[in-house]
Amino acid sequence: MKKRRGAHTGLSTQAAERLRPRLEAFMASTDARARIGFDPVEFPHRYRDPRDVEVSALLAAALAYGRADLFRPKVHALLSRMGPSPAAFVRALDVAGARELLTGFVYRFNVGTDLAVLLMGMGRALREHGSLEALFVQGWKASGTLHGALAAFTAALRDIPMDSLREALGPERGLHHLLPSPLGPGAAKRLNLYLRWMVRGPDAVDFGIWKQVPASVLLVPLDTHIGRMALNLGLTRRTDLTWRTAEEVTASLRALDPLDPVRYDFALCHYGMSGACPAKTLPEHCARCSLLPSCKVGPRVVARATLQI
Ligand code: SF4
Repeated sequence: MKKRRGAHTGLSTQAAERLRPRLEAFMASTDARARIGFDPVEFPHRYRDPRDVEVSALLAAALAYGRADLFRPKVHALLSRMGPSPAAFVRALDVAGARELLTGFVYRFNVGTDLAVLLMGMGRALREHGSLEALFVQGWKASGTLHGALAAFTAALRDIPMDSLREALGPERGLHHLLPSPLGPGAAKRLNLYLRWMVRGPDAVDFGIWKQVPASVLLVPLDTHIGRMALNLGLTRRTDLTWRTAEEVTASLRALDPLDPVRYDFALCHYGMSGACPAKTLPEHCARCSLLPSCKVGPRVVARATLQI
């Protein structure tokens, strides 16, 4: 097939061989445990039972948008009121319980009814399938693609009778933002982040409790930080945050590690989040960056600054 001009379908073998040792050293220098406190993954780390982990993780991932200092108290407050076992809580949750928990709840696009659908959807999945993993795997096997699996997963979670919920808590507002269905062309960052937590690992960050899904099929949770780092490292030339760009970045990461392509995600994302590699490049940051020899941007930034001295 003729390659589209400018198309970029992953790193070449030689480029991957050059980048891999630098990324490995970069990963080794990242204090993942210290960064967990700045990441919504801190919430599922409060639990030991896999069902509590998968339920608290989906709630945390779904609400992990906007400013961390604003969504974190919301997730914390909800989980605190759900008691020691979020899985037991959602399994038993009915409309009256949802009204008690969620009356007055607002976080940016989302109101109580949106959250009630998510929580009751998870409760129904646990009652009918035994785990959120089993529900996801059913859709994955039926569709054969990650996009199809996530679309089936969110559609099943949202399949909750709405009339009584609306009567108890009012109309939904940002349900599609919380739990997109149908899944569009966007990168579905928070859903892919959830999958990374559940599927890959275990290590200091990710849980690896979904054993039926291989880490090799995961897609990078693409956000502005990963998008910028991916451009810097030549993992893609695309600048939009779409599913297609996430596929292209993941194809490049797969050249580095075919079995576990998204293992670099946490370290790269937190490098951007921490301000070490800001959107507006800073020569002093680039000069001391261990990724400089592989970066498409940094050497120019450093050279320009040197000329100006
Ligand atoms: S060299 Fe500069 S632009 Fe490149 S990754 Fe490092 S900090 Fe970011």
